[in-house]
Amino acid sequence: MTRVGIGYDSHRFLAGRPLVLGGVAVPHTHGLAGHSDADAIAHALTDAILGAAGAGNIGQLFPDTDPRWKDADSMEMLVTAHELVRDRGLTLAQADCAVITEAPRLAPHLLAMGAALAARLGVESGAISVKAKTNEGMGFIGRGEGLAVIAVAVLEAR
Ligand code: MG
Repeated sequence: MTRVGIGYDSHRFLAGRPLVLGGVAVPHTHGLAGHSDADAIAHALTDAILGAAGAGNIGQLFPDTDPRWKDADSMEMLVTAHELVRDRGLTLAQADCAVITEAPRLAPHLLAMGAALAARLGVESGAISVKAKTNEGMGFIGRGEGLAVIAVAVLEAR
């Protein structure tokens, strides 16, 4: 049995916060606004994993009205979501994440992000791909107001 899920997330840039993506701190003038640490890769991948299992979504599992998740480590949330689907007899086999942003340039950090995600989720190194592209200057991403991430996750029976 193979199950596929998709996740999407977007966050506004905010000065004075660290930029954390895929568990990796990326040097930049701005971080991302959010209740948690606003790691949009971790959030999109969490939703993809939950979606593949038919297990709801990140907002249900980690409500942003709950003070427990204030400034939370989103990689911890991702691991919790994976544990939930593992309890249902599934495990992450592979994932692909696309970050859409005009800045900063993420190419030097992509391999580290994939490795960090794989390590935290306890899956084979190389099972998680992270890539980046710009939005060709269009829309909110093009204006540098924020970034977006799309993730696809494949789950298999344990
Ligand atoms: Mg988010």
